Amino acid sequence: MKVAKRIEELPPYLFAEIDRRIEEMRSRGVEVINFGVGDPDLPTPAHVVERLCEEASRPQNHRYPSYRGMTRYREAVAGWFQRRFGVALDPDREILALIGSKEGIAHLPMALLDPGDLALVPDPAYPVYRTSVAFSGGTPLHLPLEEEDGFLPRLRDIPEDIWREAELIFLNYPNNPTTAVAGHEFLEELVFLARKHQVVIAHDLAYSEITYDGYTAPSVLEIPGAKETAVEFHSLSKTYNMTGWRVGFAVGGGELISAFAAVKENIDSGVFNAVQLAAVAALEGPQDCVEANREVYRRRRDMLVDGLRSLGWEVDPPKATLYVWMRVPEGFDSGGFTAELLEKAEVVVAPGAAYGSRGEGYVRFSLTLPDERIKEGIERMRRAFS
Ligand SMILES: *Cc1c(COP(=O)(O)O)cnc(C)c1O
Repeated sequence: MKVAKRIEELPPYLFAEIDRRIEEMRSRGVEVINFGVGDPDLPTPAHVVERLCEEASRPQNHRYPSYRGMTRYREAVAGWFQRRFGVALDPDREILALIGSKEGIAHLPMALLDPGDLALVPDPAYPVYRTSVAFSGGTPLHLPLEEEDGFLPRLRDIPEDIWREAELIFLNYPNNPTTAVAGHEFLEELVFLARKHQVVIAHDLAYSEITYDGYTAPSVLEIPGAKETAVEFHSLSKTYNMTGWRVGFAVGGGELISAFAAVKENIDSGVFNAVQLAAVAALEGPQDCVEANREVYRRRRDMLVDGLRSLGWEVDPPKATLYVWMRVPEGFDSGGFTAELLEKAEVVVAPGAAYGSRGEGYVRFSLTLPDERIKEGIERMRRAFS
C-alpha cells in the first residue's frame, strides 16, 4: 500500500504521542498528572445539556442539517457577536456553522490556496494551521514569534514581496501556546497590511472568553474594513466546556464565507441540529457560567504560577487562555525537560518545540485539571527537583 506524501510527511501529532506515553506509564501502574492537554475538565452547563436532550428527541432534528447551519443558530451567533464585540453580522451571508473550529481551520485553506500558494503561519502555533496549508497544497512560511516582541509577529519586517505573494495569514490571539494577547493597535496594523496586499487574515479566537484580571479580547472584525479580508474562527469548546460536542462558527465577509461554504458543502453535511440548538441555549442563555469558568481558571493559574515560582522557575501569569507558558530551566531543551518531568515527577507537560522550532526552550502547562491535582503536581516537581 502506498500512503500519500501529505501523510508520510506529517510530524507526529503531539497529543497522540503524549497519550501514548501516558498509557505506557499507566500500564506500569504509574498515575501521571497531566498538564499536557487543554481539554476543560468541568462539565457543560446544565441548561445546555437539557436543551440537547429535548432537541435530540424531536424527529425534525434527525435529518441532514443545512450546510451553513440553521438560521436559528446563525441568528444566535449574530446576536452574541453584536453584544460581545459591537459588530453587526448578516446571519445569511457572514456566518458559517463549523463542526468545531478545528474543522473549519483545517478546511479554509482549500477555499483560498492553489498548489504552491504561500500562507504565513506563526511559529510556534496550534499545529493545524501548518498541516491544513500543507494538505491543501499550499506552502507554509513561518512567522517567528519572539518573547521580546510579546510573541506578536513583526508584521513590518515581513518583506514586501512576501506580503505580495502571500494569500493567507493565520494568527491566534489570545494565543495557544504562548498565552500572548494582541491589542487594537496590532490588529489595525494587521488589517491595514492585509488589505494593502490582499492577504486573507484567518484569526483563531478560540480563547476569546478565557481571560483574566479584567482583560477583554478583541475581535479582528472590530477593525473598520476587516470584514472583506478576514475570517475569524470561534468555538464553544473552551467558553462553555463543550469540546466533545463539536460546534463552532466562522465569521467574515460574504465572499470569503461563500468560498469557504463551497468547500464544506462538498465534504461534510453540517452540525447535528440538536447540537446547534443547544449551542443557541449556550449563546443566548445566562452567561454567569462563563464568569464562573474564568474564576476557576484564574484560581488555578495563580496556584500554578505561585507553585512554579516557589520552585525557582521564572514564569509570568497569563492574561488569557488555559495555559501557562514557561521557559525551561538552564541546561535543558524543551523535549529534555518534558522527559525529565515525566520520569522524575510523573508530570506531563507539552514541550514547546512540538508547536514549532521557535517553541524550543519552553514548555506549556494546561489549567484543565482540578486544584488538588495541580497542588500534587507542584509537590511532585518539588520533590523531584530539590
Ligand atoms: C482548542 C483550540 C481550537 C479548537 O477548538 P474546537 O474544539 O475545534 O472548536 C482552535 N484553536 C486553538 C488555538 C485551540 O487551542
